[in-house]
Amino acid sequence: MSALSELYAEIALCRQCEIAKYRTKVVPGEGAEDAGILFIGEAPGWHEDKQGRPFVGPAGLYLDELLASINLKRGQVYIANVIKCRPTGNRDPLPTEIHNCRKWLERQIELINPRMIVTLGRYSMAMFFSGGSISKIHGTAQKRDNIIYYAMYHPAAALHQQRLRQTIETDMLKIPSLLAQLENISEVKQQPQQLNMFKD
Ligand code: URA
Repeated sequence: MSALSELYAEIALCRQCEIAKYRTKVVPGEGAEDAGILFIGEAPGWHEDKQGRPFVGPAGLYLDELLASINLKRGQVYIANVIKCRPTGNRDPLPTEIHNCRKWLERQIELINPRMIVTLGRYSMAMFFSGGSISKIHGTAQKRDNIIYYAMYHPAAALHQQRLRQTIETDMLKIPSLLAQLENISEVKQQPQQLNMFKD
């Protein structure tokens, strides 16, 4: 059993938040355990809760298309979420849920040890970028401790707002060259503030 599978067995036992009572399946994440790129979404939705897999609904199909645009399949990257249980009624994750689940994400990052972390949407971005709105930060990268953090809009936002579609597609296309330039990007010292206020 891999260290990640052991971690997932632990996550499956977690009942720290009220929403654990209502989940069908916990959704820890999936992909290549030694993936160079870790994509982090927000929270499981209805489809993910049923299947126990991240991004398997309409937003997931679109994420697959975005990955294909840079010649990647989901099995070559890792896909996880900020929180591992579906928030009831598809509401946004609560600060306490994000706080309680943070330890799982931190351990995933340690075990996968990716070269690049791509945040999908505001909640994920807020964990790694301090301040600023997603409309300003998307498409920008920061290197800290030899990991590139790169912010993108959430694929579901681009599905619902046509004007974001081109933006998210352009942002995705920047990933290969960022990875290729990893060694040339300067490190920033700035620490991420945790759980910022969100601006659109
Ligand atoms: N949206 C997310 O943020 N994560 C999923 O797994 C599915 C939809």
